[in-house]
Amino acid sequence: MRDDSQPRLTKQRRIILEELRKVQTHPSADEVYEMVRKRLPKISLATVYRNLNLLSSCGLIRTLTSASSQMRFDGNPENHYHLRCVKCDRIVDLPIEVFAGLDECVQNTTGHVVFEHNLEFQGICRSCHEHHHNEGRSDHVVERHKN
Ligand SMILES: [Zn+2]
Ligand SMILES: [Zn+2]
Repeated sequence: MRDDSQPRLTKQRRIILEELRKVQTHPSADEVYEMVRKRLPKISLATVYRNLNLLSSCGLIRTLTSASSQMRFDGNPENHYHLRCVKCDRIVDLPIEVFAGLDECVQNTTGHVVFEHNLEFQGICRSCHEHHHNEGRSDHVVERHKN
């Protein structure tokens, strides 16, 4: 679809892409920089930023933006849904099918030509929730002792 704008994969770009595709943590540019630096010790953060933006504009990677935190990068260019934890800021891929019918529904309703949609579910991940829950429980025990 976007083949006309495919960039030449320079060594730097290829390594950034490889490193990003190794992880499913949706790292920030700083984190990508730390990963890439192990293989390209002389690379600068600015170069990593520039290449991430370029890879993203050609559809080889995706960016995940949020008002409350840094931009994050996703090595998986296929559309998929995400779960974000508002406590630890972890983003994981959601193992459910992208609902293709939604694009068509919006297009039919509005006349807007829809290519795709993005969905991110926000809340509290299981480990943050359990941590919170355990803290709550110990408070409760202390209270019971007082009685
Ligand atoms: Zn969490
Ligand atoms: Zn993802």
